[in-house]
Amino acid sequence: MNVLFVASEATPFCKTGGLADVVGSLPRALNNCGIDARTILPRYRNLEISDTDLQNIAELSISFDGVLQRATLQRAISIHNPQSRTQNYFLDAPQYFNRAQLYNYDDDVLRFGFFCRAVLESLPFLRERENFAPVILHGHDWHCGLLPVYAQKLKIEKPKTIFTIHNLAYQGLAPKELLPRLGLDWSLFNYHQLEFYGQISALKGGLVFSNAITTVSPTYAREIQTPQFGAGLEGVFAEQANQLQGILNGIDYSKWNPRTDKFLAVNYDHQSIQNKQKCKRDLLKAVGLPAEEAGSTPVIGIVSRLSSQKGFDLIASALSDLLAMNCKLIVLGAGDQYYMTLLKNLRKRFAGRVAFEIGEYNEALAHKIYAGSDLFLMPSHYEPCGLSQMIALAYGTIPIVRATGGLADTITNFDAQSGIGNGFIFHEYNTRAMLDACYQAIECYDSPHWKTLLQNAFSSDFSWDTSAQKYTELYRNLVAQ
Ligand code: ADP
Repeated sequence: MNVLFVASEATPFCKTGGLADVVGSLPRALNNCGIDARTILPRYRNLEISDTDLQNIAELSISFDGVLQRATLQRAISIHNPQSRTQNYFLDAPQYFNRAQLYNYDDDVLRFGFFCRAVLESLPFLRERENFAPVILHGHDWHCGLLPVYAQKLKIEKPKTIFTIHNLAYQGLAPKELLPRLGLDWSLFNYHQLEFYGQISALKGGLVFSNAITTVSPTYAREIQTPQFGAGLEGVFAEQANQLQGILNGIDYSKWNPRTDKFLAVNYDHQSIQNKQKCKRDLLKAVGLPAEEAGSTPVIGIVSRLSSQKGFDLIASALSDLLAMNCKLIVLGAGDQYYMTLLKNLRKRFAGRVAFEIGEYNEALAHKIYAGSDLFLMPSHYEPCGLSQMIALAYGTIPIVRATGGLADTITNFDAQSGIGNGFIFHEYNTRAMLDACYQAIECYDSPHWKTLLQNAFSSDFSWDTSAQKYTELYRNLVAQ
């Protein structure tokens, strides 16, 4: 069975968040289930692949936005990860993608609308020149929302379409005047199709026109059917409840493995946990914090996009009380200006106890934080799945999380008496609840139960196998329909 993953980012080529990790690793897990899954991405200016590793397959001419637009379908000829058997394709359309950043341009909906059109125009070439005829197009997030819409407009009956929501907060909204420029008919601009409060919603297109919808955890699948988490689309989800499935993301343990991680000062595993202390000292040095009392002072790490979703307002208001618990906080992140300024001010105020590193995408430091921290804080307001808590567990770093979305599906509260649990959970979104959970965690750090908790973390398994089987089942059911 051939499946084409259509997405706006994927490791190892380009990444702004967890979406890239998923698109970069799920196809490989699907290969193990007998699926030939390949990916297609826009060819951005800054891709982690050299020009010589890209080979042209076909020149496309597409009537779009009033002119004949050109694009080149390319294939990656060397596959970065030698273990990977997946093939990656790129669409080179410099007029839309040769820019400094991946996103955040006024014409984003037009850019990714074109990408979706070009993917559909590429299908005959993939079939003829690559012997690859997908029976499923698996689109991810709003950037691919118009894919099933165009498939219907162009009367492409095959392949079937699946749309996966990684984050409902980003909807691909655009003024309705863009509709003709996207080559779409005004008849689609209605409440049941593309219209969302007077604008076009690319994401809604994906929800309404796809053959199946998935999201990245069972709890998030339930949450988005409620007004609190549905971002105004809860009605659409309630209508499509039978078609909506929550499949938990996994992580790629060949990448996130403290035993082999090349970014660490020393490698370790559950049997050589003493080496984690060396990683901790290395981390403290790397971020300019004193390393002398490394053993007795727990370090709380955060690697995150800086957005309102991630709970930085709680962290800011709790920081003084948190640091009074004799711990240190290290944050790596970039994003909203508001949170950048907030964290910079906190860094000044709590110098020597707080490190805030701004890095759009600092892979080396991210790995050092996962390994060198004792605790990993994710007080998210909402979290569709969250990969960071799973990565932290792989490094024997204990998550403190709010019980929402995938965080609720992956972390169980540690109970010292029974010795069961892999982290610390709080429920209410407020500083008191977060501080209570941090207090329990820090208390445990100083207790003999810590060792049990560490072993529970190391034995938590979030590999892709189970999820890949669920996707495979979904693909087979769709094709059989
Ligand atoms: P989201 O997709 O909402 O950003 P996830 O927890 O699902 O959150 O995935 C975040 C991924 O991005 C993790 O792999 C995390 O390590 C990585 N990440 C986030 N910010 C940075 C950063 N500044 N530098 C390096 N990696 C980052």
